[in-house]
Amino acid sequence: MFAWFIFDLNLKLRQMKKVLFLIGMVVMASNLIFGSCKIYNYTDANSTLLFEKIFALVSKDLGIDTCNIEIIICYSIFDDASNVYGATIRRYSSNIYIMNLGEYISECDKPEIFMHELVHISQIEHSRLVIHKCSVWFEGKAYTNNIAYEDRAYEKEAIEKSRELYKKYKKEIK
Ligand SMILES: [Zn+2]
Repeated sequence: MFAWFIFDLNLKLRQMKKVLFLIGMVVMASNLIFGSCKIYNYTDANSTLLFEKIFALVSKDLGIDTCNIEIIICYSIFDDASNVYGATIRRYSSNIYIMNLGEYISECDKPEIFMHELVHISQIEHSRLVIHKCSVWFEGKAYTNNIAYEDRAYEKEAIEKSRELYKKYKKEIK
């Protein structure tokens, strides 16, 4: 009886190992297919799926390696007059981005604003955009706060590219 129990336990352990192995394979395969980018959304919980969908759609266009990065999205309040609705910085480690989105942006503006911030992540990922405490460097040129928002080349690119991406994917997002 005892020997049978040991045998039975052994069999169960082997079965469990098989199941764990299978789970591991499924996780690995899904990471390879869908990427393992983690989006931690601390804004409106209903937007999480939207953010994940947009990210999956545009990451190839932007050359972002989805397996490599984590995006933490939080609310922030921006000055209405500034026309700024989002801001993204790389923090803590090279693959963690903190994205601040305006708390009062409308649902219809949200996708394009999120895409705009993803363009900045792409610029940073490709070392074209470097953000320091007092200055921002884009393609070797320094930009200080004295340079107007619309005159900053990295903002111009983000505005144009996000507009383009929104046009391309708006049907799939709705
Ligand atoms: Zn921007």
